[in-house]
Amino acid sequence: MAAPGTRLGLPEVTLGIIPGAGGTQRLPRLIGVERTLELIINAKPVDAAEAVRQGFVDEIIEGDLRAGALAYIHRLQGAGLGARPTAARGVDPATATDAIIERLSALARKLYPNREAALTAIKAVRASVALPLGEGLLFEEKLANEAKTTVESRGAVHVFFAERTTRKVLGLPPGDAAPVARAGIIGAGTMGGGIAMCFANAGIPVTVIDSSREALDRGMGVIAANYASMVKRGRLSAEDLSRRMALISASLDYAELAAADVIIEAVYENMDLKKSIFATLDAVAKAGAVLASNTSTLDVAEIAAATKRPADVLGLHFFSPANVMPLLEVVRTEQTGPAAIRTVMELTKRLRKTPVLARVCYGFVGNRMMEGYAREAERMVLEGATPKRVDDVLERWGMAMGILAVFDMAGVDVGVNVHKANAAHYPPDPAYYQADFALVEAGRLGQKNGRGYYRYEQGDRARHEDPEALAILRARAAQLRVPQRVHDDAQILNRCLYPLMNEGFRILQEGIVQRASDIDVVWTSGYGFPRYRGGPMFHAEVLGLANLLEGLRRYRSEFGPMHWEPAPLLIELVDKDLSIAAWEKARGVAS
Ligand code: NAD
Repeated sequence: MAAPGTRLGLPEVTLGIIPGAGGTQRLPRLIGVERTLELIINAKPVDAAEAVRQGFVDEIIEGDLRAGALAYIHRLQGAGLGARPTAARGVDPATATDAIIERLSALARKLYPNREAALTAIKAVRASVALPLGEGLLFEEKLANEAKTTVESRGAVHVFFAERTTRKVLGLPPGDAAPVARAGIIGAGTMGGGIAMCFANAGIPVTVIDSSREALDRGMGVIAANYASMVKRGRLSAEDLSRRMALISASLDYAELAAADVIIEAVYENMDLKKSIFATLDAVAKAGAVLASNTSTLDVAEIAAATKRPADVLGLHFFSPANVMPLLEVVRTEQTGPAAIRTVMELTKRLRKTPVLARVCYGFVGNRMMEGYAREAERMVLEGATPKRVDDVLERWGMAMGILAVFDMAGVDVGVNVHKANAAHYPPDPAYYQADFALVEAGRLGQKNGRGYYRYEQGDRARHEDPEALAILRARAAQLRVPQRVHDDAQILNRCLYPLMNEGFRILQEGIVQRASDIDVVWTSGYGFPRYRGGPMFHAEVLGLANLLEGLRRYRSEFGPMHWEPAPLLIELVDKDLSIAAWEKARGVAS
């Protein structure tokens, strides 16, 4: 029996495990093998009405559940039907033909590449046809216990708990978070608009400020169009659209922000501009309001110094599109006070964001770690690997999108501009990110003009290999005298992943994050790192820290020390034979 709104499902395989406690043996006795496996493999809940249709709920109880349930039981008793134990039922073998199992196995491999759990579930459910319930349950238990020990389940479970730990701020004095009743945003561009939507979605009124009426109108137009497309796709009702739009007001006047509890600046990435805006905010914002910058590359402490209230200033680094991406890097300076951190951590729950607390450093956590990862991908295309080859290896391993395709999507010029504006932060390597530079100099900006690392047809995001791009990359490599190489898949993968993990150890040692698992959350929720591999720090331990260190040293001797110096913490852990968890425990980091 189920109440009308009940949702029923078997999502276990997404965590690398299989339904236990009889899920794989009892359900097929009610609805057959094929339907059971569709529920398990698709891992999407169905509502009570669908469950009745499929046959694993008998009755939907409207109104008072207890009274309705008793009435239903009395009805059954009245009809004299007696007990109907599931154990006594057989499984219809017609629901488990070879063709059905083959189709579902193909689906499992397609939905869960590199993973076993869905295939293991097929094995368990299929066994229900031949085995009596008692034996089937033992078989299920054996497979379920094995599944719990796989890397895919340990990785996914690790990320599941890591995401629930990020809001715990070590050493934060107890106190209440200030409620956020109103918000303000400066800048109605790509990020400001997306952030405004986050607030409206959470039911918080928000005022968006820009420097001109045109910019405001354009920004509000984009927001309206985004909501309209959600309505068109059936993701939002028309009433919700108007309710949310009514929560967003546009203004040119900073005085409108006087009542805001949180104000987020998202104007152009320019220090002088941001400083002048923070000085204005200092003059208009109410006492205790949190003043945040969405900067990606600028020093939040310097921005905070433009105000007389640096304790209330922090970075809130949203990811694009801000209304969709769950990750939020919360950047505290040495001056940021506990009240601002508490308010923001609480606010992220309402905004449905996954916050990761970080300290100020160039690139924060995610972009800082991406630097070496992408550097090697770009270097390898100069060495003669095709962009498709590099991206394919990364995607087959599990990254949501190859990094070169990511650059095409974000705009290759965006990265080039960041590298130009921040040259002092990067190593003196003449080939550094030169694949990006060469493409942009040839007018290839990525998807937005149909040409980047790949070629795109109008109105279509499918990537096509492009000989013209390859020729540009070859020419740049010749000019820079980059030695040509043949790469195998393992080399492509290791050269990208080793620097990524290595930088993670530096970030951990410098105390930029509170704990290693926060790094894993950044990469799994913001950068498409596969959850079933647990994030970069978890993966480093799966690989073996000694193996990672040995690999870095090998590349160091091959390519020189500029990019390949192993992180001191990694060396220390290997020398002392310590796990990351043991190191953290010794430093008082509760996991
Ligand atoms: P954008 O160019 O789309 O928007 C900037 C907006 O700021 C424009 O609407 C502009 O009119 C407005 N603006 C400029 N000067 C202003 C002023 N004096 N007062 C009020 N408004 C003013 O830029 P964006 O991509 O939204 O980036 C905004 C910030 O977010 C930057 O700091 C950027 O580094 C950061 N960021 C961007 C991304 C991204 O993927 N685009 C991701 C994370 C962080």
